[in-house]
Formats: sequence, C-alpha cells, structure tokens
Amino acid sequence: MGQFEAFKQQIVETCQALVEKGYLMATGGNVSLRKPGQNAFAVTPSNYDYLKMTYDDVCVLDFNLNPLEGHLKPSVEASMHAAIYQARGDVNAIIHTHQVYASALTLIKTPIPALFDEQARFLGRSVEIIPYAPSGTGMLKNTISKHVLNHNNAFMMQNHGALVFGHDMERAMHNVEILEKCALAYLLAICTERKVSKIPLAVREIAFAKLRKDQKNVESGKFELGGE
Ligand SMILES: [Zn+2]
Repeated sequence: MGQFEAFKQQIVETCQALVEKGYLMATGGNVSLRKPGQNAFAVTPSNYDYLKMTYDDVCVLDFNLNPLEGHLKPSVEASMHAAIYQARGDVNAIIHTHQVYASALTLIKTPIPALFDEQARFLGRSVEIIPYAPSGTGMLKNTISKHVLNHNNAFMMQNHGALVFGHDMERAMHNVEILEKCALAYLLAICTERKVSKIPLAVREIAFAKLRKDQKNVESGKFELGGE
C-alpha cells in the first residue's frame, strides 16, 4: 500500500463525479492532485475509461515526470500539470475537461469577462483563451505556464477545452461548475446580440483581492482547508 493511496482515491472519485455531471466525456480530459510539501502529484492515466478506473490505475509522478507509483502510462498532459504546479504554489488540484459550453467559447476565441460576483471571487478577473497548441506538446505546456501567472483559476484552451484550478480538489470541482454556468450564460447573452453587462470594476477587484489573499495563505501554509 503506497503513501499516495488517499490522493489517488480522490482522483477516482472526482473523475466519476465529473463524468456523472457531464463535464468529462469518453476518455477526454485529465485530473491531478499535488501532494503538498512534496514535488509529486497524482494524475489520471492516458486514454483510460473513467468509470473503470480504480485508485491503483492512477499514476504518481515527480515534477520531472519520473514515475513513483502506478502501472499505466500517465496522461499525455502530465507535463502541463507539472508545469502549472511549479508556476503556481497556491494550486493543489487541476481539472482539465472538454466541457461543452466553455469549449464552445474557445471556438469563437471569446474570453469571459467578469459577469458574476462569484465568478470573480473564485475564478479570477476573467476567463482567458489560451492560444491553440497541440495536446501533449512542449508548446502547449510553455504557453500555459505563462498564462497561469495572472493568478486566475480558470482558462479556456482554444479549440480544446477548459483548465481549472483549486487549492484542493473540492474547490477545483466547484470552479469547474462555476465556469460552465458562466460559459452557458455568456453564450446565451451573446446570442441576443445585445450589450452584455459586466459587474462593476470595483466589485471585481474586491472579489479578486479576496481570491489573491486565499492564494497567498495557501502558499504560506496558513490556509485552513474549506475556510474563507
Ligand atoms: Zn484535452
């Protein structure tokens, strides 16, 4: 029994919940969880049926992608996950989905401005589009590592899908749901061809400041999980 068992189990439960809610389809997407205080993370295996997955199928890697546990090939995006953990000390969980409404916005390269209070509080100032690069390439990894430095917790990858972060898996899952709600509401609003209103700039900045405070607390180890 390995030291990462509980972490691997959390990945399995998250994937199954994401499939049930319709955010993960077929074998698309990938999910990972950092082991705080260690240069290691658990990540879903490549091209594997989420509903058949058990904790034993989850891979554990160090940040140089050396395998520590697991018998399957890790996700082709494992290097992207490692790069994000190295760039963002506040991120302990990453969910990459092909969720439909956020994916639709990537096709028209339309970022989501600050539309709702809870969006700014949990996802950041906006949800930007990360320019297209093929999956599993160094080009995609490098582009993403630069974008995530703006401290937002959700991104949309052009012609691909969504990338969402949290200080823990529960928050990352919550952020996936907020993103999809915002993407759908924004798409519907755009379809009216009327002007889409945003929240006031001052409100956006106050909400983002709270998010930044959380992130700094996580980085300094002061954040109590589940606390405000
Ligand atoms: Zn993908």
